[in-house]
This record gives sequence, C-alpha cells and structure tokens, in this order.
Amino acid sequence: MTSETERIVESAVRATDECRSLAAGRDDWKYMGYVGSALITAAGNRYTGINVELVCGIGFCAEHTAVADMLKHGESRIRIIAAATADGNILPPCGRCRELIYQTDPANLETQVVVPGGGLRTLRDLLPLNWQDYIAEEPEGDESGSGG
Ligand SMILES: [Zn+2]
Repeated sequence: MTSETERIVESAVRATDECRSLAAGRDDWKYMGYVGSALITAAGNRYTGINVELVCGIGFCAEHTAVADMLKHGESRIRIIAAATADGNILPPCGRCRELIYQTDPANLETQVVVPGGGLRTLRDLLPLNWQDYIAEEPEGDESGSGG
C-alpha cells in the first residue's frame, strides 16, 4: 500500500472508534458503526462516515454517510475512497454504494477505490455495463395520442 492508501484506510478505521465505544454497551448494536469510510475529494478535503445498522434491518453503508458529509460541505467529486471494518479489513463498496458514488457525480467513474489487499481500482472498473448508457433515448411509439 502507498502511504496515502494507508492513511485513508486508517481514517476509515478511526471513524468507527467513537461509535464502537458506544456500541460496546449495547447488545442491540452488534454492527452499528462497525464499518468506516473515508474519502478525499478532488479539492483535497477529507470526509468520513460509518455504517448504521439497527436490529430490524434499518440502516445504510459507511460510504453513504461519508458521501453525505462531503455533500454537506458542497463537494461531489471524489478522488479516492476507502472502507474498512473496525478491525482493519478493507472492504470494496457494495453495488448500491458503487451506484451512489457514480450518480452523485458521473466524474466519479474515475474515483480511485481502495480494494482488499490495498490496491486501487477505478470505480469504472467496479461498475461495468453502465445501465444509464442503455436508456438515454426517449421511448418510441408514444406519439399516437393514445391514453388521451
Ligand atoms: Zn454499500
């Protein structure tokens, strides 16, 4: 891993610290804040997030709250992003997070994503056959006036 990759993974892990301390006293928070995410924007700012996991299944990924933290500060372009468990295992983003990162800013297809082992892949590599490339045109045959 490069030093930047190590630092961003470390930020992702550190993001879980406070919530995991709080979760230690709660039987119903087994995975609350168990995954952290950190990202660095094109402007060079760092934002972090943690996953939310409630017993009835309500929740979202750490990348969601990191992206929300970024948007809250008026930015959308991510240069590099990482997610890791509280004990340091690097996780690739799930499919939903890949779409979230892409749809937040299409330029994020070039975002560098830290993958298990500490290597980097672009989001484009992790999101092949973009569905939006196939629905760009208006549906045909809807000019007959039917339905009026
Ligand atoms: Zn996810």
